[in-house]
Amino acid sequence: MRTVSRPRKAEDPVRWLVPCNRCGQHHKTVARWPDGGICGYCYQQAKRTRGVCACGHEGVLPGIIDEQPACRSCSGVRLNVDCEGCGAEDELYCGGRCWTCILGDVVDNLLTDPTTGTMATELITLAGALKSMKRANSSMTWIRQKHVTEFLRNLAAAPKFSQETYDELPDSRTREYVRGLLIEHGVLPQRNALLMRYDSWVTQALERVNDPQNLDVIPATGLRD
Ligand SMILES: [Zn+2]
Ligand SMILES: [Zn+2]
Ligand SMILES: [Zn+2]
Repeated sequence: MRTVSRPRKAEDPVRWLVPCNRCGQHHKTVARWPDGGICGYCYQQAKRTRGVCACGHEGVLPGIIDEQPACRSCSGVRLNVDCEGCGAEDELYCGGRCWTCILGDVVDNLLTDPTTGTMATELITLAGALKSMKRANSSMTWIRQKHVTEFLRNLAAAPKFSQETYDELPDSRTREYVRGLLIEHGVLPQRNALLMRYDSWVTQALERVNDPQNLDVIPATGLRD
């Protein structure tokens, strides 16, 4: 997985005399690993480096051997990346748990109807879809936006829904995104986009016809009555 590194502060060779063994820049050393002193930036990057080690182990590869990422047991790097929730080897987010576990809690919390303490059957499917989105940390960023949180809370408290009741929820990109997920997972039926467009065209066309100006024209063409 490629990681986007956050912008670095300017290095400070006066304050941090010994450069980081990995990037060669003068930043605070936050860990001493078998390959040397590691700065905060390289530490973050190491935690997020995933792949398959030369030994065949798949997971977090924080070490470096022959310039290649390596697993903890091959490299001797000591780093806690064992989730206490699911046991997966992953970057931990808080409470010793990985992003996927935390995302699961957030989704369950949002989609549970607070008055009954239960989750609607349709929403259990949606919850599953939201929890299994790749890149749990990006999903968290998405879900934590106020309008998304509010939308999901409303959905949790909504009565049984169909395409029609779903349409009554405030129109937003979030609504359409979640609708897509609901259709994909068979909670809402597919609908014919063309038919919808035709319906709204007919409605608008009839409204146009009701315009007095147009009504004046219609008798002349023999279409009225
Ligand atoms: Zn570094
Ligand atoms: Zn290995
Ligand atoms: Zn976990």
